[in-house]
Amino acid sequence: MTVSGGQAPQPGAQPARIGPNAIIRVGEALLALESAETADRVFATAGLSHYRQNLPSEMVPEAEVIALQQALRAELSIEAAGAVSRDAGLRTGDYLLAHRIPKPAQRVLKWLPPGPACRMLLKAVANNAWTFVGSGHYGFEMGRPVRVSIAQCPICRGATASLPVCDFYAGAFERLCQILVSPRARVRETQCQALGAPACQFEIDWRR
Ligand SMILES: [Zn+2]
Repeated sequence: MTVSGGQAPQPGAQPARIGPNAIIRVGEALLALESAETADRVFATAGLSHYRQNLPSEMVPEAEVIALQQALRAELSIEAAGAVSRDAGLRTGDYLLAHRIPKPAQRVLKWLPPGPACRMLLKAVANNAWTFVGSGHYGFEMGRPVRVSIAQCPICRGATASLPVCDFYAGAFERLCQILVSPRARVRETQCQALGAPACQFEIDWRR
């Protein structure tokens, strides 16, 4: 079964927007793993210095998220940029668990066996995909392993790299799956548009 979602319910030619976690949590991760100076530099390179003092409280233009990810890769090594991006994804997962995913739904997911819980979680994610993939397209396919795909992925847009770079999504999915599906869940990006793949693909596995 393939389920897809992600096209924003946006009228006309409005530019795609993404939830502010993709900015706020990257800032937090830079402070945690790098330094305030590095955070200043990365945000300046992205043209987003104003967010260092005033964090966005509403959805931001997709172009800002793309610029911030490009700045991470420009200012840091690809490994360090990946670590920051992944940490930002984990923090986004924590935020969603604390503020966005209703507690009764979380109890149901934790009670279900991993397979059905994962299916229900990814279905719920599909309904909200437009808030985090912008103009991208989200889909998933249950199986061993479970596969999530994001075409026209905003995180790696414009990137050419020697390894997958969409650690932000891998981190967010991993945190959600570890809490709601199985503590053994691991998520890795196995195909990335930055390496020429037609879509970014993530594998979720809790059976290893
Ligand atoms: Zn990717």
